Amino acid sequence: MAFAWTIRAILLPPSSAPGAILHDIFGYERFRGPQGPIVDHVIAGGDALVLMPTGGGKSLCYQIPAIARQRAGHGVAIVVSPLIALMHDQVGALHEAGVEAEFLNSTLSGGEANAVEKRMLRGEITLLYAAPERVTTPRFLAQLDSLHERGQLSLFAIDEAHCVSQWGHDFRPEYRALTVLHERYASVPRIALTATADAITRADIVERLQLGQARQFVSSFDRPNIRYTIVEKKDATAQLLRFIEGEHESEAGIVYCQSRKRVEDIAQTLCQQGIDALPYHAGLDAGVRQANQDRFLRDDGVVMVATIAFGMGIDKPDVRFVAHLDMPKNIEGYYQETGRAGRDGLPAAAWMAYGLQDVVNQRRMIDESPAGEDFKQVMRGKLDALLALAEATDCRRVRLLGYFGEASTPCGNCDNCVSPPQVWDGTDAARKLLSTIYRVQQQSGISFGAGHVMDILRGKKTEKVTQFGHERLSTFGIGAELSEAQLRGVLRQLIATGALAVDAQAFNTLRLTDGSRAVLKGETAVRLRESVSQPAASRRRSGSAKAAPAVAAGLTDAGQSRFTALKAWRAEVARAHNLPAYVIFHDATLAAIAALAPQTLDDLQGISGIGAKKLEAYGAEVLRVLDA
Ligand code: ADP
Ligand code: ZN
Repeated sequence: MAFAWTIRAILLPPSSAPGAILHDIFGYERFRGPQGPIVDHVIAGGDALVLMPTGGGKSLCYQIPAIARQRAGHGVAIVVSPLIALMHDQVGALHEAGVEAEFLNSTLSGGEANAVEKRMLRGEITLLYAAPERVTTPRFLAQLDSLHERGQLSLFAIDEAHCVSQWGHDFRPEYRALTVLHERYASVPRIALTATADAITRADIVERLQLGQARQFVSSFDRPNIRYTIVEKKDATAQLLRFIEGEHESEAGIVYCQSRKRVEDIAQTLCQQGIDALPYHAGLDAGVRQANQDRFLRDDGVVMVATIAFGMGIDKPDVRFVAHLDMPKNIEGYYQETGRAGRDGLPAAAWMAYGLQDVVNQRRMIDESPAGEDFKQVMRGKLDALLALAEATDCRRVRLLGYFGEASTPCGNCDNCVSPPQVWDGTDAARKLLSTIYRVQQQSGISFGAGHVMDILRGKKTEKVTQFGHERLSTFGIGAELSEAQLRGVLRQLIATGALAVDAQAFNTLRLTDGSRAVLKGETAVRLRESVSQPAASRRRSGSAKAAPAVAAGLTDAGQSRFTALKAWRAEVARAHNLPAYVIFHDATLAAIAALAPQTLDDLQGISGIGAKKLEAYGAEVLRVLDA
């Protein structure tokens, strides 16, 4: 059958049917989720706004229409993307699949850019990737005019469309100028794509990009293969080490930290522990940054320690974990960042350590930002939603999806579902804390920080306590039975819910708020997670044997050795082509080959991820590797 199919592919003009393109070029059997309807809609000339989680398969939503429309005589598709550093690999992946694609950005020399433009004008390119600032230059627009006049502009794809909105987490002013595309080429279909989809950002994208007439395709945001875990921060570095060594030895992952300094420190610590870790932040030399990113993409099992400057558009499919050592600003950011784990659909982990200081820092950053009060109000609301997620004692996924407007039931694959936390009633403790803060303020006329307030409550006669005569307060020692960890939990939750404020301008002192009253009066109950120590590492194998990667876990011993041989072969090819290994074949594809142990090209042809071009280019070599 494969033989007949190959003959047909050679003899007949290529089909512009989407299903045939999916199969022949990308080697996939069926569309995933809403890909099919989106592709049909855009091929027919419609505008679309696509909201799909990271890893959902957005690229095919414009790549297949671009190929289909090009084959039907409509010319080149322009893909607007802010991800200059990744265009090379994206275009390389299309080349591997046999698609004519190029990119135009500042990494090309003038001569190289000219050559690409000439090819584009001659109609030799199916997809052209370009940065937004490039697309809106008079020179490039004149070239688009010329294509348009000849009916050779097939579509515009606007990737990472949330960049147009200040509510998104990565606002890029250059995106605002993209309205020119619609105004100038009204008849050319546009497809805007993003993985960020809270209601306010979505409305802003529609307005800013004038997509009022576009059909909206909203996918489920669930990423069922990702396990969410949020732990209480005690010694964050040690907790991180336990997490990586215990559950993700030799696997690729990303560790997000707030500051450059922390990135450097953590990367160094991980390296000292024998973990293959690299730093990434905006303060590093551009060459070093690019080299580190390349190693992360190209080599197996590298851990990237990074600020959020890293990761947008990273389409490495086998990132097995994303860890947050510091809390992000909001749920959109958290979801986008954690979404970089497990794009291949195999089990992956999202892990965050969170503590009182995170709450204080994030609140302070909003308070101290130069933005207007309206903007700050929105930011505070978004932070509160994330804090509620971190404090939650019920299913994390239900809350995450709820935030994106999706109803769901407990998932069975988050920390709270897997081991439901002990909950204790912290109402009484909260009232004791708040009244202590009240009394101290009354007696001394000034506010104090968390440490001092806890000392009073626990009846500790420190120097400071006696200096201010605070041992005479009626609340002195009334919380002696509470541990410091418990009190910190209470404080964190009170601050998280706005029942207590931290004054960043005055040495992080604590201040009562309007919300304090309801708690003091006993009108609001405070339910808290019991502080638990880290559960013992679950997946660690005994002895020194390395854990098998998740993808190959089901293979027999013979299958394992085929898998290893295939990976070694793939690494060579990837190096020769100057591309990441997964662009040649995904791990999942190699694992499927290793399991099947095919004897002929025919056997190979049905495996997911092997399209016609790859079968032709690599089929014989793969059989040779298996034979060896
Ligand atoms: P996104 O841009 O939405 O984050 P990608 O377009 O990078 O996601 O796709 C994620 C992964 O899923 C890629 O490795 C891609 O090859 C794969 N993929 C996409 N669509 C399909 C499909 N219909 N069948 C199988 N794999 C798919
Ligand atoms: Zn759950």
